[in-house]
Amino acid sequence: MTELNGGLMPEFLAGYQPSIAWRDMWREIAPGVLVRRHRVLDLNVVLVLGDERCLLVDTHSHAGYATELIDALRQVTSLPWTVFNTHAHFDHCFGNATFAAEQPELEIWAHYRCRDRLLHEGEAIRQEASRWLLDAQQPEDARAVLHVRVLPPNLVFDQDVMLDLGGRLVTLHHPGLGHTDHDAVLEVPDVGVTIVGDLVEEGAPPDFGDSFPLEWPTTLQNLLPRLPALVVPGHGDVVDPQYVHEQALDLAQVADLARSLPPGATDLELVRHATRLRVGRAAGLKALRRVLSASPR
Ligand SMILES: [Zn+2]
Repeated sequence: MTELNGGLMPEFLAGYQPSIAWRDMWREIAPGVLVRRHRVLDLNVVLVLGDERCLLVDTHSHAGYATELIDALRQVTSLPWTVFNTHAHFDHCFGNATFAAEQPELEIWAHYRCRDRLLHEGEAIRQEASRWLLDAQQPEDARAVLHVRVLPPNLVFDQDVMLDLGGRLVTLHHPGLGHTDHDAVLEVPDVGVTIVGDLVEEGAPPDFGDSFPLEWPTTLQNLLPRLPALVVPGHGDVVDPQYVHEQALDLAQVADLARSLPPGATDLELVRHATRLRVGRAAGLKALRRVLSASPR
């Protein structure tokens, strides 16, 4: 495996206690698998090292953050990089163009519906992201997002695909409908790590904005038998399969409630029902509204 910068990573830190000290730094959670957990959005970016190239999972939100990420990456390795986008939300793929500018003919992998979404709805995603950041009191990021050139993936998959990083094989897998219709996970089997993007959320409720609330729990249940000991969500701390199992139960509670709603349930009734949900009232309400708006009643 490629040599790491020993000064950055003095210890093997699987099972660490979460600490603010680890924000915006690479942390090696397994040999040659480094997670950079950002203060901004509590976003995780993951670097997987092979002997011939490295694979970067997600590229952050805009050129400024992507440039910081490239600098951080270059402190760890001089290998060429390949990019993998877990899904088409701005915080996971809007750094793509910055990475491509640094390395011509960059390979960017994703599920094919992620490419289609960015290809056809890139401008809408950019505008929505900017509004969301303004609402979240992040005006500088909101402006920076508006200047992003949205660069869709150029290599896509539907069925599982295996990539050879040199001495290390990794698998791209789409487990089904969930947080979006195109969430993709990356499996690093030699060290027992799977990177799951926003299919699993730690530190905040699951985000139902583009989700499929009725199918999401089943997708996680189907993924569970494939999960190794370490599971890296798109945001928050590294978790384990037990955590994913519990989140699947919380999502199943949402789906069960959504299925049981009477036809023509009013928004007020949805609010009342949502207070009972373990994912929290705001997230639950978003999920219930999404189900109701998608199904004629
Ligand atoms: Zn997302």
